[in-house]
Amino acid sequence: MANAQEPFPLTAYGASGLLARMAISPDHLSIAFTDKTLCTRCGTCAGVCPTGAITMGDDLYPVIDEDACIDCGLCTKTCPGGTVEYKHLTQITFGHDHDTDSFDGHVRETFVGKSTDPEIQARGAGGGIITGLLADLLEHKVVDGCIVTRMKPDQPWRGEAFIARTRTELLQSQGSRYMIIPVNEVFALLRREQGRFALAALPCQMHGYRLMQEACPELAGKIHLAIGLFCGGSLEPEVVTDLLKTKHLGRDDINGFEFRGGEWPGKMRALLKNDTIRDMHYSNYKDGAYNYLISLYMPPRCQTCLDGSGEFSDLSVSDAWTRDREGNYKFKGHSRILVRTERGAKALDDAVEAGAITTICVSDDPSYRTHRIQTRRKGVNAPLRVARLKKAGRAVPTYDRDTPDHTKKDVIKERVISGLIGLSRFPRLRFLVIKFLTSSAAIPLIKLRLVLKKRKYQKLKR
Ligand SMILES: Cc1cc2nc3c(=O)[nH]c(=O)nc-3n(C[C@H](O)[C@H](O)[C@H](O)COP(=O)(O)OP(=O)(O)OC[C@H]3O[C@@H](n4cnc5c(N)ncnc54)[C@H](O)[C@@H]3O)c2cc1C
Repeated sequence: MANAQEPFPLTAYGASGLLARMAISPDHLSIAFTDKTLCTRCGTCAGVCPTGAITMGDDLYPVIDEDACIDCGLCTKTCPGGTVEYKHLTQITFGHDHDTDSFDGHVRETFVGKSTDPEIQARGAGGGIITGLLADLLEHKVVDGCIVTRMKPDQPWRGEAFIARTRTELLQSQGSRYMIIPVNEVFALLRREQGRFALAALPCQMHGYRLMQEACPELAGKIHLAIGLFCGGSLEPEVVTDLLKTKHLGRDDINGFEFRGGEWPGKMRALLKNDTIRDMHYSNYKDGAYNYLISLYMPPRCQTCLDGSGEFSDLSVSDAWTRDREGNYKFKGHSRILVRTERGAKALDDAVEAGAITTICVSDDPSYRTHRIQTRRKGVNAPLRVARLKKAGRAVPTYDRDTPDHTKKDVIKERVISGLIGLSRFPRLRFLVIKFLTSSAAIPLIKLRLVLKKRKYQKLKR
């Protein structure tokens, strides 16, 4: 975490006797301390720990200083790893408990849009909507800072969360980092901060934040707006060094790394110290590398996550992938926005009114149902995986949603995808596969995939 300060002074928690070393009950700790495979690495436990006893380790799982732990149980109350109760999260977020049971979750209105600031738009993963909104909130002093991410300036192969307070800092945060970053550890910094903040976060991080609203209302009250990112799954952090290795590059060769650099939809590329840019892959992010990486580097907990749309945010932002009949993107360089709460609606309206972003309402446009594959993966494949693993006695998160209706084909598909994901257990083999798939020898495979995809898309449109 950037700008990490010393842990919160222990004396602030009363008599020193209370702080003496004590046996900590596992029931009072976040799930990582009993089963790492269920940990999302969202960083909430480190963020809410009142004594700074929990920090995120090098592998981005939490570590605990037992001497500093006061057994308060806040980390377990806010941990979204082991249990995801949709009704409960719905209650906290929307004030009622009617779970929609749909991939998109509760949606008031849907838009596509982009930032009107050419720099923000060009640097955005999509249309720079998240940063356009955050910049507008900062400019109009609605918030004092924004919780966002960037690649570490001194270790550009790793990501970090930080509080951006200026437009320049927001620009550093732009683009998607398809890797685990424990965003919510930044909540530890908020404890000492005055003022209001905005949060941009992935679904698991959003779950942690919502649970914090209940367990630590004062701390959570500092967050004025929660913007959710869609998420098809994150990647293990070593993906960057592995990609560099496929091109015979090391960590010391780079100044920066972009997952979606250059022209939309962007390419994975390394910014080298000799001022040149090296593509990690011959195709763009959408049609190339990410499709393999998501199978080969997806962490265990992401494989059993059912929330792909940031259901518990004030508004969620996704890519705007809709294509026309010819297979061309309808809204190149745009983002899609799902407005969920009144607060989200107001932030969007204000930004449009201030001229910071432009939007087109697509709520009633039936052709604007995107993310079909993701809906299937998260809405059917992942619940089937959860059910199968549970039956086999493996640890899986507990959900208060039933396994959806499915076909035999879905069952087979889940097994095939899980088989591929299983390769991640063999890092050497995984590296060889990635080396091949990111080499020019694999170009025919990408071309074939694109042809098949275009055909499928045209069929769907008929
Ligand atoms: C791991 C991951 C998986 C995703 N999967 C999908 C998907 O399957 N389908 C889809 O439509 N969209 C997905 N997205 C979201 C999409 O890539 C864009 O981030 C989103 O459309 C916003 O674009 P923008 O131009 O409005 O944002 P920008 O203005 O570019 O801002 C991007 C924001 O994302 C934040 N961010 C970047 N990386 C991370 C991270 N690792 N953790 C937390 N915050 C981060 C930045 O801090 C910044 O605030 C994913 C994003 C991530 C990080």
